[in-house]
Amino acid sequence: MTNKTFTMIKPDAVANGHTGNIINDIIAAGFKIEAMKYLQLTQAQAEAFYAVHSERPFFRDLVNFMISGPIVAAILEGENAVENFRNLIGATNPANAAEGTIRKKYAVSIDANAIHGSDSDENAAIEGNFFFSSFERF
Ligand code: ATP
Ligand code: MG
Repeated sequence: MTNKTFTMIKPDAVANGHTGNIINDIIAAGFKIEAMKYLQLTQAQAEAFYAVHSERPFFRDLVNFMISGPIVAAILEGENAVENFRNLIGATNPANAAEGTIRKKYAVSIDANAIHGSDSDENAAIEGNFFFSSFERF
């Protein structure tokens, strides 16, 4: 049985030229790309996407970082997708990320941490629907 997760390659990783390597790592790990687009979030979109963190002290910095440059958003399909993808990307703070994970290889800091991965099946569906219409999914 396969299911889905949602990811964004964040502005630091795009700006630092890691987009191709990260997509390679995702495909090599066995995920199928169901939808993908390259875009720059507006402030309102970033605030809406991260609304669950709106009371956190790092919210302003997080939003400003996420709108600082283009990102790649994607819906991924794979076995146990949410958990397996979080294992592939590694800990939020790259200093704590395991060897071989995407954040260990490509992230700069806890803010500029290269990539997002949904934290539950429910949020994967919400986040995927936030970015993609049914016509953009294959
Ligand atoms: P993401 O949701 O981006 O996949 P995550 O699930 O590992 O990351 P969250 O707790 O959802 O982490 O936090 C969202 C983002 O907010 C993190 O990716 C990170 O960039 C930022 N963040 C989280 N905690 C902190 C913190 N203590 N200080 C600064 N930034 C933080
Ligand atoms: Mg999260």
